[in-house]
Amino acid sequence: AVVIHRKMKESGKWVKAMEIVKEFEESCRTPISKLKQVADAMTVEMHAGLASEGGSKLKMLITYVDSLPTGNEKGLFYALDLGGTNFRVLRVLLGGKDGGILKQQFKEVSIPPNKMTGSSAALFDYIAAELAKFVAQEEDDFKPTSGRPRELGFTFSFPVMQTSIASGTLLRWTKGFSIDETVSDNGSPFVFMLIMHSVDLFIGRVGQDVVAELTKALERQGLEMRVSALVNDTVGTLAGGKYANNDVVVSVILGTGSNAAYVERAQAIPKWHGLLPKSGEMVINMEWGNFRSSHLPLTEYDQALDAESLNPGEQIYEKVISGMYLGEIFRRVLCRMAEEAFFGDIVPPKLKEPFILGTPVMSAMHHDTSPDLKVAANNLKDILEISNTSLKMRKVIVQLCDIVATRGARLSAAGLLGILKKMGRDTIKEGEKQKTVIAMDGGLYEHYEEYRNSLENCLKELLGEEVCKTIKIEHSNDGSGIGAALLAASHSQYLEDES
Ligand code: BGC
Ligand code: MG
Repeated sequence: AVVIHRKMKESGKWVKAMEIVKEFEESCRTPISKLKQVADAMTVEMHAGLASEGGSKLKMLITYVDSLPTGNEKGLFYALDLGGTNFRVLRVLLGGKDGGILKQQFKEVSIPPNKMTGSSAALFDYIAAELAKFVAQEEDDFKPTSGRPRELGFTFSFPVMQTSIASGTLLRWTKGFSIDETVSDNGSPFVFMLIMHSVDLFIGRVGQDVVAELTKALERQGLEMRVSALVNDTVGTLAGGKYANNDVVVSVILGTGSNAAYVERAQAIPKWHGLLPKSGEMVINMEWGNFRSSHLPLTEYDQALDAESLNPGEQIYEKVISGMYLGEIFRRVLCRMAEEAFFGDIVPPKLKEPFILGTPVMSAMHHDTSPDLKVAANNLKDILEISNTSLKMRKVIVQLCDIVATRGARLSAAGLLGILKKMGRDTIKEGEKQKTVIAMDGGLYEHYEEYRNSLENCLKELLGEEVCKTIKIEHSNDGSGIGAALLAASHSQYLEDES
């Protein structure tokens, strides 16, 4: 009798868990008709964001980049890439026309915990000191040829309202940065925020000129270097992509956070009151992570994740498509199943910890091809201390990964379609042989193969075979740093004196 009772209980919990998965799957559905609505909504919001400041949740930020690298850039340039999960410094020697990149070197630096809790100046000092060390290691064939100061492109992967190519103020933090406005010694407000769930902590100011901060720190180091370009990572990627392939007109980052930039006609930007650039073009940093629409298939898990996040109501699109959140959505569904005794009588305590399941782990489980789903078993055991899973259970768990990743991938494909529509590149015009290349970067795209495949297949489905032949996604490996250096070169303060 005891055995029968247990069997009944087991099957009861199984039925309940399967109901949860079914319901979740249902609310995550992304049929093509829905994706087309999402794409249309993206196009509409793009128009609204370009029309007026604050016209849309999509900021559609003007970048002051009105021309992308041509290949003529020449000389030694530096870049500093500050993204949230990494901090890189690099230098490139550009060969000018037909010369290409003659040489490049980079260094990746992590920020030590003791530098993370001080003032914003302390962090910028640290960055500047690391940069100075890197500069000191210049080899002879990497020295500047003229006596002028070295120039730097600064990639800063947060929303910035720019006032010129080399100045701008931070609008807000994203990607789980927690903001605490305090007052520093000298009475000026500064902000420090920490990347939750990671050891890094990063300090900076909201509402103050990012370049001025950095420049002051460089001066304190005695490092003579000019910040000639301040760019978002999408803009750096666009510039780096364009340098490698002239058909690049869009860039997308799918990493911890997500965003896109593209080349817009200056005349299609009503909110731009400046002079019409010679090129007639302007790169727009969309900040698409903040897109939202009633057509997005959001579930109760997404609502809860958002409500408990550090930026509720913001970055809704980012919260369903990007690397920071996929693992967390997955955890939330698993936790709900555990409440129905899926893993036994109690909810495994580790499973209750927000962000304990990172997207890389989810990806590893998702790609598990071993017959007994070993990877899933090991990760469940090592990370969540759940050791009593059956193969049948693990299959359901892998299915969950698939639901979460597929929805994210297909929604990002829909976003891309929205951009292509805005650019008039979603159809083939008669007699035109236009090619469109999208420069793509970010760990999610690079490492989560199922996600990448699903995105690419979905884009094909959305565009149709014929149009798809004219559109290409190219992986731009860390193009954002090189791109920033290239933009520093093309916006060099010293070009004039040279000719
Ligand atoms: C930021 C963007 C950035 C993107 C990718 C988002 O959270 O708001 O500025 O481009 O992450 O790094
Ligand atoms: Mg990056």
